[in-house]
Amino acid sequence: MKPASEERSREDFRGWARSILVHHASHAGVPGEVYQTSTIGALLDGVYDGDVTIDELLRHGDFGLGTFNRLDGEMLVLDGVCHHLRGDGSVRLASGDELTPFAAVTRFVPDTRVTITEPCDRRTLTQKIDEMIDSPNLLYAVRVTGTFDTVHTRTVMEQKPPYPPLTQATAGQQEAVVHDTAGTLAGYRTPAYEQGIAVAGYHLHFIDEARRHGGHALDLRMERGTIEISAASELHLSLPRTPQFLGARLSPADIDRQIRQAEGS
Ligand code: ZN
Repeated sequence: MKPASEERSREDFRGWARSILVHHASHAGVPGEVYQTSTIGALLDGVYDGDVTIDELLRHGDFGLGTFNRLDGEMLVLDGVCHHLRGDGSVRLASGDELTPFAAVTRFVPDTRVTITEPCDRRTLTQKIDEMIDSPNLLYAVRVTGTFDTVHTRTVMEQKPPYPPLTQATAGQQEAVVHDTAGTLAGYRTPAYEQGIAVAGYHLHFIDEARRHGGHALDLRMERGTIEISAASELHLSLPRTPQFLGARLSPADIDRQIRQAEGS
């Protein structure tokens, strides 16, 4: 029989190891900072291959959205877990060595929380969030958890080189309308002056509670739930040095129209 003290120290060690893991997971990223790789302008121009791994991304935050190399589906990061929502309707956990051409993550620390008890559409929901923020000039991570009458999502489809521009690639997107579902919207409210770096206004992705369905949220009707926002005043913009990015045309004259068309915003 082992001495009781040895058993106790073993338990102490296990507790310590667990706390380190939890500590690590909940402290990814810098508070108040959004880390973003590449720009939405690069995505519009067909720069669908990036050089940032999911492991690297998750070192900068536990919450966010994006896409995967070859534009292979939508990304949603929640509680430090990176979900890969693919065009064939499947949802799985992204592996650490997958690459992203565009993503933005932050450490989500809710500053403000509002409970929604009446049904509201996307427009009313975003108006409520507009009322929660201090200023339209900062970045806000937005998390909405609740029950929904309807969520209309799209998922971009894997592309093959030579890559078409995003407005063409999204013409072949998979769309789905899910009724009577519970889940989470995760994304950002971005200042208008950032159009082209990110998507100005609201950019939200959805995943259901069972983590089986989701995508880029085009439209929705929410029954009830909770809105939480996490403000950021630091933007860590990490630009790729890939030949595709170096040669991309990042500020076309009609960038606003292209983003609205591609993102349904
Ligand atoms: Zn999206």
